[in-house]
Amino acid sequence: MKHDPRAIPAEDAPSFHALPAAQALALLGTPEGGLSQAEARERLARHGPNRLPEPRRRHPVLRFLSHFNNVLIYFLLASAVAAFLLDHAIDASVIVAVVLINAVIGYVQEGKAERALDAIRDMIAPHAAVLREGTRHEVEVADIVPGDIVLLEAGDKVPADLRVLSARNCLVDEAILTGESVPVVKQEGAVAGASALGDRTSMLFSGTLVATGQARALAVATGGTTEIGKISSLIGEVQTLTTPLLRQINRFGTLFTWFALALSALLFAFATLARGYSPVDAMMVVVSLAVGVVPEGLPAVITITLAIGVQRMARRHAIVRRLPAVETLGSTSVICSDKTGTLTRNEMTVRRVVTAGATHMVEGSGYAPLGAIGEGWRAGDGAQDDLDGLVHAAALCNDAELKEKDGHWIVLGDPMEGALGALAMKAGLDPRSLRAAWPRLDAIPFDAEHRFMATLNAAPSGERWVFVKGAPERVMAMCGLREAADWHEKIAQAAAQGERVLGFAARRAGPELAALGMDAVEEELRFLGLVGLIDPPREEALAAIADCRSAGISVKMITGDHQETATAIARQLNLADDPVAVTGVELDRVPDEALPALAARTSVFARTNPEHKLRIVRALQSTGAVVAMTGDGVNDAPSLKQADVGVAMGRKGTEAAKEAAEMVLANDDFASIVAAVREGRTVYDNIRKVIAWTLPTNGGEVMAVVLAIILGLALPMTPAQILWINMILTVTLGLVLAFEPPEPGVMARPPRPRNAPLLSRFLLWRVVFVSVLFTAGVFAIFQFALWRGLGEAVARTMVVNTLVVMEIFYLFNVRYLNAPSISLTGIVGTPVLLGALAAVTLAQIAFTYLPIMHTLFATAPIPFMDGLVIIAIGIVVLVILEAEKWLLGRRHIATD
Ligand code: ATP
Repeated sequence: MKHDPRAIPAEDAPSFHALPAAQALALLGTPEGGLSQAEARERLARHGPNRLPEPRRRHPVLRFLSHFNNVLIYFLLASAVAAFLLDHAIDASVIVAVVLINAVIGYVQEGKAERALDAIRDMIAPHAAVLREGTRHEVEVADIVPGDIVLLEAGDKVPADLRVLSARNCLVDEAILTGESVPVVKQEGAVAGASALGDRTSMLFSGTLVATGQARALAVATGGTTEIGKISSLIGEVQTLTTPLLRQINRFGTLFTWFALALSALLFAFATLARGYSPVDAMMVVVSLAVGVVPEGLPAVITITLAIGVQRMARRHAIVRRLPAVETLGSTSVICSDKTGTLTRNEMTVRRVVTAGATHMVEGSGYAPLGAIGEGWRAGDGAQDDLDGLVHAAALCNDAELKEKDGHWIVLGDPMEGALGALAMKAGLDPRSLRAAWPRLDAIPFDAEHRFMATLNAAPSGERWVFVKGAPERVMAMCGLREAADWHEKIAQAAAQGERVLGFAARRAGPELAALGMDAVEEELRFLGLVGLIDPPREEALAAIADCRSAGISVKMITGDHQETATAIARQLNLADDPVAVTGVELDRVPDEALPALAARTSVFARTNPEHKLRIVRALQSTGAVVAMTGDGVNDAPSLKQADVGVAMGRKGTEAAKEAAEMVLANDDFASIVAAVREGRTVYDNIRKVIAWTLPTNGGEVMAVVLAIILGLALPMTPAQILWINMILTVTLGLVLAFEPPEPGVMARPPRPRNAPLLSRFLLWRVVFVSVLFTAGVFAIFQFALWRGLGEAVARTMVVNTLVVMEIFYLFNVRYLNAPSISLTGIVGTPVLLGALAAVTLAQIAFTYLPIMHTLFATAPIPFMDGLVIIAIGIVVLVILEAEKWLLGRRHIATD
């Protein structure tokens, strides 16, 4: 960084919190309307991006070495040394090769998985609003420079250290920095220079969250010079590659290792004492078996399975923020979703305008200001006072802007407000010049709790006007119209069509009214009428809901919208056969004990507050459901955290919601949640397949050798050969199942229960059954070869080949846990599978026919016809396993 008077080293930076706001602006050379783009670019080059320093990663060498840090590997390396000293150089080098290959695979896969997660993290790079050249711009947080004026509102994450310029009801949660969980009030007044961080109420600190209100503030420190940047220990945001499942498997692996070591010791004693093996031979057998039985490659394969799942989900616009969500998604049994923008398109158009005197249907589609209102009514014709007031309110109590771009009208801001702008234009008003003629003096912004928005405008005549729009019951109540049956009737009419209904009100105020408080909007308000807007359901959502229903996942709509509107949309989406709807007010009356049953059978929760969401999630979870819940606002954070999978909206969601969520939807689309569930189920299936394949293949070879020792028969494989099988299979077939695509029926079966054990009854049975089958195959071919008089070397080579062939056929069988594998797609396989198959085949041909291999592994060439016998055994194994799958599948055991 070049020297620059404005790049002040942190230790002698001025105490911005103690300076008046104007002085802070002057010090950083920021004009009223913010920096110019050119200046911002220049400062960015000078100060560097506004990013926390990358957390230091472990050195690659250390990361590589960490793969050697486990009991089994120590044991193996010790055995390799022993073997070497005992003149078994070949065995020693094969053991070392197995260990090395494992470490390399683990290292490479872990690196890939980490990079995949990094790439995904970049997809949700946070944005912030800044004021530059007098207009509001959305920029990446990394592009914020000292001197930028940042605009913040509830739910935003503070993007840098900022000096408050103005604030309204601004409460900030600084727990991350100060540990204080009660939000702090922020204001523009300077505080004493010696104040502690928690008392600097004139400052907003990077990484904290705006809980309520709004603020405009000046960036004074970015990147590593922020308060949070100085606390390096807090920057450990790197995803750890671990999940409950992976921990379970690691624990299982460690347990298994000790178990294997104990058994090895017993076997060693038995072989030397009872069977007359020399200690050296016995040790080599025992060591190679230990290598065979312990699934040392399993954690690496499962990590890569999870990482592939995360990548596939990202491709479907579902960005996983916490790895365990991948597992949980697969067992999701209830999805609670917002309506607007998630199940519907959030493309609004005003369909009807209702005043006391008349109902006018509105023509046109999209946001284009084309189409007539009723019989071609225009604002200002005097005949319709209420209608005139209503379209004025629609244009003025409105923050959105409409723009024509390449012949298309688009909205900057809230789509509903965009639609109201279009309505005003259809009435002949020009919102932009109207807003200039009626300057806004104050506003109460919309929030989901109050469900209305109000503005105070100065009319050209010198009068002041209050305009209100919001949920119709709310606005009517503000106008003292609680019991107006005719209005309720009109609301119900529009809502039954799935229209979202808004109420409008206004009042003329005296010139003394300068600010809007709650009291100012409660008195003498005149109700003007209603507007009905259509927001069509998303087509993808319709298909996704059908998927959910076949997959035994219930979908619940939790919306702030009107009950009738929500129910009509639920019907259009076919959410349930006859959707049961409940409102927030009704929920408040239901005691906690009765809620689970009610929540389970309800499909539509209407007029809810964010607090209701929390109660609903808890109630559903108490019935054993695994709940995915969507949210976007600050107040949704608690329910997102409570849900098993919190899902935040990438576009309209606040940073607070994203922080609390396990997953972020880049496109806000409900269908992406369902796609992620599908991938989650696939990941879980694939992990089960990896285990179902790995354990018995290890078990088979071990059982055969142990049996031979116990029965005092000739060993069907030498230690070096056992090691070879392990080495060759880990690098090839062992990885294939991680890449398996979803099975055809993944979304046609019910979700797996919350605590379903990974090693289900079916899987345990499989491990035993296949191990026995493999043992039988090994003995059969060994005896067959000896009977044919081919000699021990050929017989052993045939055993190794038979094992590998059986494992290949078993792999084909295990690719479909619940469907027959003997089908066109089942036999053709995937490119990954075919590649691995080619590699194993080549390796086995080399193993059998290359002279160097004959020396290294004591193998011998197999006659062609005997080779065919080996393949035949593989086919027999496949047929037996397919028959077993069919039989068990009919008895529904395979799915438990
Ligand atoms: P969902 O939770 O499914 O996204 P929603 O978007 O309908 O539902 P909210 O945004 O909480 O829920 O809105 C609740 C109600 O508040 C709406 O039905 C509408 O009546 C009113 N409302 C929404 N936006 C505004 C706004 N900008 N100004 C005034 N009133 C609004």
